[in-house]
Amino acid sequence: MWGKIMGIEKIVVGCVDIEGYHYWEDAIDKVAFLRNPHRHIFKFKAGVRVSDNDREVEIFMLRDYIVNAIARCYDLDMKLFAGDYYQFENASCETLCEVVHEYLTDQLKLNVAFVECFEEDTGGARINYSDSKA
Ligand SMILES: [Zn+2]
Repeated sequence: MWGKIMGIEKIVVGCVDIEGYHYWEDAIDKVAFLRNPHRHIFKFKAGVRVSDNDREVEIFMLRDYIVNAIARCYDLDMKLFAGDYYQFENASCETLCEVVHEYLTDQLKLNVAFVECFEEDTGGARINYSDSKA
């Protein structure tokens, strides 16, 4: 309430890098190489509206929530040498944002302000969501 009066929107942000492969089945000829599975470090960022300063949403837990959202929807494959990676199949950055948003809102009842999914630092998607408690 105080935030609304003062025009303040307080958002806690969690960031997670997740290695994965995806492809764009229907890529146009100019970027036909995207039809093949290719690797990215998908950089997820989720912002959750809070009203106080005392860990209403804890950052480490928010990061875990992002990972949980992905893990429940996509398969994890093992590499030969280091770490694991996800098979995102035909999922776009926008789709991956929606997967995270759905989990944070439907399962955890958080007031999500935005979700981002970037491919490295080159580009990606950001979806902004209106205040569910407004
Ligand atoms: Zn890609």
